[in-house]
Amino acid sequence: MDASTSAPPHAAAPRNVLVIGDGISGLTCAINCAKAGMHVTLASSTVPERAQSVMAAAGINAALGRKDGDNPLSHLEDTMKGGCFIADEQAVAGLCDDAPAIVRWLADIGVPFNRDAAGDIILRAMGGHSHKRTAYAGTSTGKQIVTALTQQSRRYECDGLITYRMNLVFHSALVVDGVVYGALFFDEHLHKLEPILADAVVMATGGQNGVFGKTTGSTLCDGYAAGKLFIQGARLKNLEFIQYHPTTIETPQKRMLVSEAARGEGGRLFYLDGDRRVYFMEDLYGPRGNLMSRDIVSKAIFDAPSQVYLDVTFLGAKAIMQKLPEVYEICLRYGGVDITKDPVPVAPSVHFFMGGFAVDRHHRTNLAHLYAIGECASIYHGANRLGGNSLLAAVHSGRVAAQAIGEDNPAGAPPDLSPLITDATNAVDRVMSSPSRYPAIYVKRDMATIMNRDLGITRDEGRLDRARGDIDYYLDISKKLAFDSDVSPYQAFSLEGMLPLARAIITCAAARKESRGAHIRDDFPENSPDYRYATLISFAEGRYEVEWRPESQAVDVAKDWGER
Ligand SMILES: Cc1cc2nc3c(=O)[nH]c(=O)nc-3n(C[C@H](O)[C@H](O)[C@H](O)COP(=O)(O)OP(=O)(O)OC[C@H]3O[C@@H](n4cnc5c(N)ncnc54)[C@H](O)[C@@H]3O)c2cc1C
Repeated sequence: MDASTSAPPHAAAPRNVLVIGDGISGLTCAINCAKAGMHVTLASSTVPERAQSVMAAAGINAALGRKDGDNPLSHLEDTMKGGCFIADEQAVAGLCDDAPAIVRWLADIGVPFNRDAAGDIILRAMGGHSHKRTAYAGTSTGKQIVTALTQQSRRYECDGLITYRMNLVFHSALVVDGVVYGALFFDEHLHKLEPILADAVVMATGGQNGVFGKTTGSTLCDGYAAGKLFIQGARLKNLEFIQYHPTTIETPQKRMLVSEAARGEGGRLFYLDGDRRVYFMEDLYGPRGNLMSRDIVSKAIFDAPSQVYLDVTFLGAKAIMQKLPEVYEICLRYGGVDITKDPVPVAPSVHFFMGGFAVDRHHRTNLAHLYAIGECASIYHGANRLGGNSLLAAVHSGRVAAQAIGEDNPAGAPPDLSPLITDATNAVDRVMSSPSRYPAIYVKRDMATIMNRDLGITRDEGRLDRARGDIDYYLDISKKLAFDSDVSPYQAFSLEGMLPLARAIITCAAARKESRGAHIRDDFPENSPDYRYATLISFAEGRYEVEWRPESQAVDVAKDWGER
């Protein structure tokens, strides 16, 4: 461990760990904690099979270093370049060094990666990577990883080291003077709050999709947990970096992803100029143009003068059905296009959040004994994530956090938490017993409209000011009126976290007066050395405060956790 930031090692007393969220990062952390003899409560709003992780299709990256001479250093260079050089290089080096061992471990526990005749894992090309380094299991990589991890975690459940608690929605942290002692959950079945105390709490709650409404991701990842902890004192980071995936199809409920695997396998983007196809990515960036990083492709599609299409027909029906069956299925079912015969119309959509909890290299947040992993943590992707790196980050961060928890001092005996629990219970009771007042569902719809309208692929001061004014209006209303929902009380109280999160995203986007990666300002089109830093945002006495620090100093445990 890094001597400057580590808390003193602690004698091997078994400790209780609370992991919140059961996607790939949460499962990995739980397994690794249990492996080290810790007792884990794995609490989540849903079962692992429904976590967003199961949607991941294209694959997971590792420089397996074979015929083409790929190595972790090259993976590191590509990741730093893709992230526009603001990610913490040492953390990224740890991620890329760990990647080959992670893929081998996943294969060992049963992930059926596609293999060639010699039995070697096949690697595919993905945007922004200089080598083929994405391992995949058909078109259900995420699902296969979740299945294998769930099987592992069940073994520890049988040993009594992991306890599954499903249908529990995170309500708030039990935090006193900057120290976290556990969390309160809303039981979706019993409609009541339940406290769970722990020596360490790990947030693994995924991205912030809910704030934008329709995205490619799961609405279970609504950003509430990050927003709630933000107003409870957690520092967030780089919220302005929101990845638009270049190729998606609109459906009434959400945007369906046309996986990057389609371009990885040779798919070409074009628009029509009269009858002539213009392969604009190739014209702009040469033969590998279709596989530029997502920020670049999304912006180019956004700027195209007419509808953009993705063409894979030249691969032939057999190869498409072998390599891209899910892409075929999605395009046919949701776009009405048979991609073995015709190009499919595509458009960019919100897909991934580079921002989230500020963490150090051990995944500790600034609140003592609170850790964050997976997509809800911000550390490896800088201003733009490369495809295939987030499954990797989910596994790696779960491993890293588990190790840190085993080495850090536990929180110790909690003070009297009953006032916190009573206040929260009364607030939830008020929501449940109130006559219909301000329908939460309409506020969520308006919030999503505002965010999509003003925080799209490009932004400027005028649109950001307008978004801030509109979200402030709802924040103001929320001080005077309770939100109400006939679906679930959670729908109502979740706005207490989601609206501040939306406001924090807007504040970060307004503060970064340059263009970098996924943050493109029409009024500041160049990137500037003045902003080669992480955007850190805190909530202090009702104010949203931004500060700039190098990524490596986003959390300083010696200072933030203090001598405890
Ligand atoms: C369509 C799609 C395809 C993708 N393909 C790839 C790919 O090929 N390769 C790649 O590297 N990445 C891909 N990604 C991204 C990747 O899947 C995610 O970043 C990653 O799986 C996140 O894992 P996680 O463990 O952080 O969170 P998730 O898997 O999102 O899990 C979060 C968990 O937290 C729970 N939760 C959320 N809020 C609460 C709350 N308030 N209380 C209790 N529980 C809560 C959820 O129910 C869920 O169980 C893709 C994403 C999408 C949307």
